[in-house]
Amino acid sequence: MPIRHLPELLINQIAAGEVIERPAAAIKELVENSIDAGSSRIDVLIREGGASAMTVTDDGIGMNAEELAMAVDRHATSKLPDNDLVHIASLGFRGEALPSIGAVSRMTITSRARDGAEDAFSITVDAGKKSRPVPAALASGTKVEVRDLFYATPARLKFLKSPRTETQNVREVIERLAMAYPDVHFKLTADDKILLDLPSASLHERLRQIMGREFAENAVEINAERDGKKLTGYAAIPTLNRGTNQYQYFFVNGRPVKDRLVIGAVRGAYMDFLAHDRHPMLCLFLSVPGEEVDVNVHPAKAEVRFQDSALVRGMIVGGLKHALASAGHRASTTVADQTLQSFQSPAAPAWNGEYRQHQPAYKHLKGMAGAPYAGTYYTQEMPGLDAAPGARAHDVDIAPIQDVSEDYPLGAACTQVHETYIVAQTRDGLVLVDQHAAHERLVYEHMKKALANGGIARQPLLLPEIVELDEAAAERLLARKNELEELGLVIDSFGPGAIAVQEVPALLGHSNLQQTVRDLADDIASFGQTMALKEKLEEICSTMACHGSVRAGRRLNADEMNALLRQMEQTPHSGQCNHGRPTYVELKLHDIEKLFGRR
Ligand code: ADP
Ligand code: MG
Repeated sequence: MPIRHLPELLINQIAAGEVIERPAAAIKELVENSIDAGSSRIDVLIREGGASAMTVTDDGIGMNAEELAMAVDRHATSKLPDNDLVHIASLGFRGEALPSIGAVSRMTITSRARDGAEDAFSITVDAGKKSRPVPAALASGTKVEVRDLFYATPARLKFLKSPRTETQNVREVIERLAMAYPDVHFKLTADDKILLDLPSASLHERLRQIMGREFAENAVEINAERDGKKLTGYAAIPTLNRGTNQYQYFFVNGRPVKDRLVIGAVRGAYMDFLAHDRHPMLCLFLSVPGEEVDVNVHPAKAEVRFQDSALVRGMIVGGLKHALASAGHRASTTVADQTLQSFQSPAAPAWNGEYRQHQPAYKHLKGMAGAPYAGTYYTQEMPGLDAAPGARAHDVDIAPIQDVSEDYPLGAACTQVHETYIVAQTRDGLVLVDQHAAHERLVYEHMKKALANGGIARQPLLLPEIVELDEAAAERLLARKNELEELGLVIDSFGPGAIAVQEVPALLGHSNLQQTVRDLADDIASFGQTMALKEKLEEICSTMACHGSVRAGRRLNADEMNALLRQMEQTPHSGQCNHGRPTYVELKLHDIEKLFGRR
């Protein structure tokens, strides 16, 4: 077979195979062109998912007749003025999109150059056959109409999904670009239905438009800068999480990208707060100097390469962690929403305007006050705040605070229910704290900090506590003696199969030491030989805190409860337990009023 140069049309069709994978990809290229043209308003219309027709109209700088004719030629671009692939300031640069789309469809571009007195012109490309520009009517900007996408490449046509799916793809493409360009007004109409109408807005408002109210209310702002690189955006606090990472948006120099490095960095930043199968919602913008990133690695420009990926990763992890720490004890508002919904379950219907005096729906509270609700009101005296029998203040290594009348975010403790939950009154509502989950988190954060600052404070036992184990378990513990010491637990061998505990972490107290040590031995067995205990700190803390002083089922007195609340307020990440579940729920007075139909 003789070797030959392929005809232009075939080249463009081959390029279209890469660049224009599906209607949404064509939309992405056209909308990016409109953004590059400095538009403030971009209107997108599609029919049947874009397959039968799509129109992108903008109010950008436009093109004159000569430019129009060139725009549809292969490798013709206005965006690399100095032939410089390093400092790319635009979304486009390959000069491939228009000729590729034109090669596989019927495309008409109408445009009017902003500078210059000329009229508008239009040009048509039908399956690669280009017409001459002819005068046309258009007030300003550019309008690109594409009909019968892929009609010239029937093989590709077969791979299109249902119009619904393709419409959804188009929507996602526009949403992504709209996040990166909040000051541009975007509109998407599909088969005469308006799917998106996003007026120019601040970034926060734009994210609310797209990612929802929940996200906007429960996200912290990210703002990090290092060596000319900048990371900005918003990230959800951990209690607002999802079962997929599909709500994680990432942009490099204004370009939406999907990047494994970033997904890994986000996972690393949230590792301490979320279970493995949960993912935070977030939207991050990284801007890096042109010479440190290569955007020219993918025909559809969906991937980038960083010169120093470790640095970028570090910056993302650091920026996220810093911002999350600033969220302090905040737990997401959705927690309260969910609580309200469960109160308003069928067992306790929401107020519907009627007074249901004779049908109290308290079934789900059965046993809560010590006896089932029996049709008549009764009151049971709550234990006095200072007289909680069995409370041992000295077990809790947290300083009691006497005056709780101040305006604390988590309020003043009123009582404890079921020896598990603390009820506190705040200025404008009430807070319910899961004392065990909260304490576990406090212990973990405390230990992390202590470790970073050179060690965990230990408390010597007056008499060593002897724990009998089997020999293998005792050996496993002794093999980790030095590591355990760093974590505050000092042990020695006490004959075969026994351990003498000499010192314990000061913040844990020493109740139930026997069980703690046994569980630690089990933990260590499950970590394997090589895993450093520090890497498993979260589990170790859970184990220690689990048998430590403030666990579920332990009576607390008022001072202890208030001390716990104050500590939560001061400890980063205390709004969620080590698995991303909330440690407390807040109900505002107006929420409570809603429950009782007062609002
Ligand atoms: P690229 O965007 O990579 O330059 P395209 O094939 O997408 O390549 O576009 C070719 C050229 O056509 C652009 O460089 C630009 O000059 C011009 N162009 C395309 N779309 C528009 C538009 N909406 N408004 C103004 N100029 C446009
Ligand atoms: Mg382009």
